Amino acid sequence: MKFCSLYSGSSGNCQFIMAGNTKILVDAGLSGKKIQQAMECIGEDPSDIQGIFITHEHIDHIQSAGILSRRFNIPIYANEKTWEAMQPSIGEIKSENIKIFEYCVEIGDFYVQAFDISHDAVNPVGYKIFNKTKKISLLTDTGCVTEDIKKHISDSDLLLIESNHDEDMVLVGSYPWPLKRRVLGDHGHMSNDSAGNLLAEILKKGSEIVLLGHLSKENNFPELAYKTVENILNENNIFIKDGLTLDMTYRDKPSKVYEL
Ligand SMILES: [Zn+2]
Ligand SMILES: [Zn+2]
Repeated sequence: MKFCSLYSGSSGNCQFIMAGNTKILVDAGLSGKKIQQAMECIGEDPSDIQGIFITHEHIDHIQSAGILSRRFNIPIYANEKTWEAMQPSIGEIKSENIKIFEYCVEIGDFYVQAFDISHDAVNPVGYKIFNKTKKISLLTDTGCVTEDIKKHISDSDLLLIESNHDEDMVLVGSYPWPLKRRVLGDHGHMSNDSAGNLLAEILKKGSEIVLLGHLSKENNFPELAYKTVENILNENNIFIKDGLTLDMTYRDKPSKVYEL
């Protein structure tokens, strides 16, 4: 399998995944032009994309889903409530490109399984994506992590996990109080500390690739997210060596392309 985070952050999200001859995107939360540019940058052609999977209806996840679907005839996959919620924002979609599924779907060489997360959207999900031998999990936009979520993302070969904010930066920052409460609440976003603690609990193989993503522009910066998570892992006797990789994703450019 191949994975590249084309963009990740509070201002837009789009992940590229490939297995065998199947290529998909998870979310399309920037302009069509930017997503096309990022794909060109990694040598991929948007017209080869066989599906865009949507995590939830917020604009940083759906901005160009409709545009890309119309331009390249790509089916959009989401659960029913998310479809209803995003339909007015993404415009007219050809009926054969409206793919409603609740939890599991097979697409080419992939199995895609959605799982519930805790966020202020109608029916937000994370995804785990398999082929016969490898597993990629994507967990962003969740204010709390349940036992169920932990089970879903355990044993991943590659995990993209939200490291949205530093709690102190949110508290002392310029956000109005209701927005601070939203970000820090159970239906908001995961902090650097929560990402570190979750990883300390679930990393077992020692050969995982872990990518930190969905960083807030206002309340975080990449070095702080990385160091906070690394420190928590070290405190738990987990070290970035021997095959375990901890990398960043970026709001304005593609990550490395990872081959599993
Ligand atoms: Zn969201
Ligand atoms: Zn988001």
